[in-house]
Parts: sequence; C-alpha cells; structure tokens
Amino acid sequence: MEWTADNIRKKYEFDAVGITKHEGKTIIVLGMETEPDKNLDEFIGGDKKYATWCFSGFKKYFSPVVDKFLSDFEKIDEKAEPFKDYDKSVNIKELAVKAGIGFQGRNTLIINNRFQGRLRFCAVETFLEIEPTGNGIYEPLNNPQCDKCGYCEIACPVGALKDYKLIDEEKCLAHQQLTNRIPNLERCNLCWIACTKDRSWAEQKKAQKERIKKEMLP
Ligand code: SF4
Ligand code: SF4
Repeated sequence: MEWTADNIRKKYEFDAVGITKHEGKTIIVLGMETEPDKNLDEFIGGDKKYATWCFSGFKKYFSPVVDKFLSDFEKIDEKAEPFKDYDKSVNIKELAVKAGIGFQGRNTLIINNRFQGRLRFCAVETFLEIEPTGNGIYEPLNNPQCDKCGYCEIACPVGALKDYKLIDEEKCLAHQQLTNRIPNLERCNLCWIACTKDRSWAEQKKAQKERIKKEMLP
C-alpha cells in the first residue's frame, strides 16, 4: 500500500487523516469522530485514585485502531511513534489545522466540513516522507464557520469565550480544574457540547450559570 493520508484513512477506517511537518518530521494526524455510543470525551478521574483526568474513551475506542495502524507502519519505519510533544512545542489541534483537516473553532475544537466539532485526534511521527495534505500554516484565527453560531460563547458559565477569540484559559473552569488538580468535581466541557447543540440548549445553560460555577469550582 502506498502510504498516503487517504489510503491510511480508508484502510484503518479513521474518519479523517492529515499529514503535516513539524521540526523536520512528518506528522500523521489521525482523526476519529466522537459519537454517543463511542464517546471519545468520556473521562475518569478527578478523585483519589487519579490525581488528574484520563480520557478513558480514547483508550477504549481510539487507541486500539491507532495501535493497529502503528504496528503495520512500524514495518516500514521502526522509529515511527506516537507524537509526544503535545503541550510542549505544539498542540495537536494546531497540527490538525496545519494538515488541512479544519479550522479551530472558538471553543478550540477543530471544525471540519463533514464532522463539525466532533473529531478527536491522535498523531504519529515518522521520518518517512509523506505528501502533506494542508498548507502547513497554523494561525489562531477564528473559524469562518463559527460566524453565525456562538453557542459555545452563550453556554460558557464564566465568559471565557469572547469577541471571536479562542478560550481565555485564565477564566476557563476546566483549565482551573486541571491546573489546580481539583478532585471530585464534574469537568466542564459545555463549550464542546454546545458545538453539537442549538441556541435554546445554550441559553438554558446560560440561565444556569451560577449553579454550574458552584458545581465545577469549590
Ligand atoms: S470548558 Fe467550560 S469554562 Fe471553559 S471555556 Fe468551555 S464552557 Fe467555558
Ligand atoms: S459552538 Fe459554534 S461558535 Fe462555538 S466553536 Fe462550535 S461552531 Fe464555533
């Protein structure tokens, strides 16, 4: 098989695959859709056993497919490995933008023409040359597809999404929960859920914002 983004997507049944470059390496960005019966946003943690959260949905549904792809791919590049530099030099969503999978929405999710904000990502790095799929440029620009929506902004209980900018991490409840490792609390991801909902859902959350803030921060 010729290793192209399209062939990888079809053979391993990913929902989206993009190729980009990062620090001299080829990055294969693998996208899978989160769905109600395959919830990639499911997490465990925030309790005594787990100091922080672990995305159990990824482990259950995404990792086995990535492992299968990697075990085949290692036959042609034994040094290929899961991309590990997240949060250090680059964020995986930036790589997805560079690979042309979509633009970043206001809630930071990658908004894709077909899957809207429902794609989640893993990535593999290799020295093998593979044809890039995007223009290799990341800019934290607002996604034009967000234009007439704004549901994430309405639903956010603390106004962390404003003026068509990405999330203000200082204000974001989820960010505070993670950085302060606050245990036993529900993790906020209302702005992600909003992306698949409608205005009345977002307005409902807005009306409940004081209660939500209390539930998510002590
Ligand atoms: S995770 Fe919650 S607090 Fe943070 S931006 Fe989204 S809705 Fe707002
Ligand atoms: S909820 Fe709407 S405005 Fe927010 S990221 Fe999704 S599409 Fe964009």
